[in-house]
Amino acid sequence: MSNSKLVCFTMISPNSTNPRKDTIRKITIHHMAGNLSVETCGNVFAPVSRQASANYAIGTDGRVGMYVEEANRAWTSSNADNDNQAVTIEVANDRIGDDWHVGDAALASLVELCADICRRNGIGRLNYTGDATGNLTRHNMFAATACPGPYLQSKYPYIAEEVNKRLAAESGRAEAGAEAGPEAGLTQITGEAKAGAAQMRTYLAGLNPEAPDLAAVYLEEGAAEGIRGDVAFAQSCLETGNFRFGGDVKPEQFNYAGIGATGGGNPGNSFESPRVGVRAQIQHLKAYVNREPLAGECVDPRFAYVERGVSPYIEWLGQKENPQGKGWATGKDYGSKILRILDAILDVDAPEEKTADESAKEAAEKTERKKAGRKTRKEAPAKSPEEVTVDNALAVALITEREHWLGLLDGSVKPDKADIQYLLDAAYEMLKKNEAEQRLLR
Ligand SMILES: [Zn+2]
Repeated sequence: MSNSKLVCFTMISPNSTNPRKDTIRKITIHHMAGNLSVETCGNVFAPVSRQASANYAIGTDGRVGMYVEEANRAWTSSNADNDNQAVTIEVANDRIGDDWHVGDAALASLVELCADICRRNGIGRLNYTGDATGNLTRHNMFAATACPGPYLQSKYPYIAEEVNKRLAAESGRAEAGAEAGPEAGLTQITGEAKAGAAQMRTYLAGLNPEAPDLAAVYLEEGAAEGIRGDVAFAQSCLETGNFRFGGDVKPEQFNYAGIGATGGGNPGNSFESPRVGVRAQIQHLKAYVNREPLAGECVDPRFAYVERGVSPYIEWLGQKENPQGKGWATGKDYGSKILRILDAILDVDAPEEKTADESAKEAAEKTERKKAGRKTRKEAPAKSPEEVTVDNALAVALITEREHWLGLLDGSVKPDKADIQYLLDAAYEMLKKNEAEQRLLR
């Protein structure tokens, strides 16, 4: 028996019967009668004296916590027979009292969690009958309680319908023997990467020699979720200005796709390491690309906010080009910008390979160095003596950083005094190093 991959937080409660005495064939949804985070909910279920628990809980932010593994019976619904058959879920209220309202993020997450429970436990559809004979049950069917509250109770038919839509679409695809055929001329984000790590690395090093080398990490993390790691990498090149950052997100956040950075100085989410940052991005992409459950544990704090499966193609990642007006980014031509970068990566001629662990280690070290100061940025490429003059030293420094300066022009990169300083330093270093030009400097 498995647990949901949507879980972002786990804190096992002692209040359970292990193992459960029946097979899982039901879901029971509860409200918290409070606005508790998944962490606080864990604290509530922790004391033995509380004599209460649930398999899962969902916070108002849509994150999912687990307190009793599905293999075990949680003490949630005042009914042993029900809870031995049911996976129970507590949902946070974003307003207290009245109709005990539940926020949209929590509701969206609830639908995905119910669908995931059905999938893994062979529940073909959710049948809400309004009484305990159905397989979607309520606490107030078994006890005199307000739970799940008027608002959530009114959503039961909607929840069943949304879950069943997902299950039917998947079984339809399975019967057809394959996913729906890709639309002509569009680029799927699922599947194997087409670019190699060396191509990705060489491409980026040409634009930003100080960039962390995460090419192999992108490919590994992508492969783990069935997402093209080279597409995610190209997206990061766009989102971070070739890993120069310079916007609201700082390099040490390991957030390579602006997750949660909504503009106006909001730095967005931070991740504990480069690898976890890349993993979160891949998972966030997967949320947009299809409705498949995650293969690994969810580290993307915004996974539950995404309407799943709306952008199977790169071209549809931008809301302006998406047929449903949905997708990752609001800016125009988002997908075609990523495609242009991807094409340039695929054009790179580069054979050698490096392991992901080496790359991840170097990336962490590089970030440390970067925090220590920008002096370590690479020098512009050496030119033969006769080519170097003040003018072309500046030109070479400019061209080496072309993407960055272009980013300054179109506003995607914030101007930074250090950039100008760097440009001048790079040109100066190039001249100084060149013996034939020593006269110019004296
Ligand atoms: Zn309840």
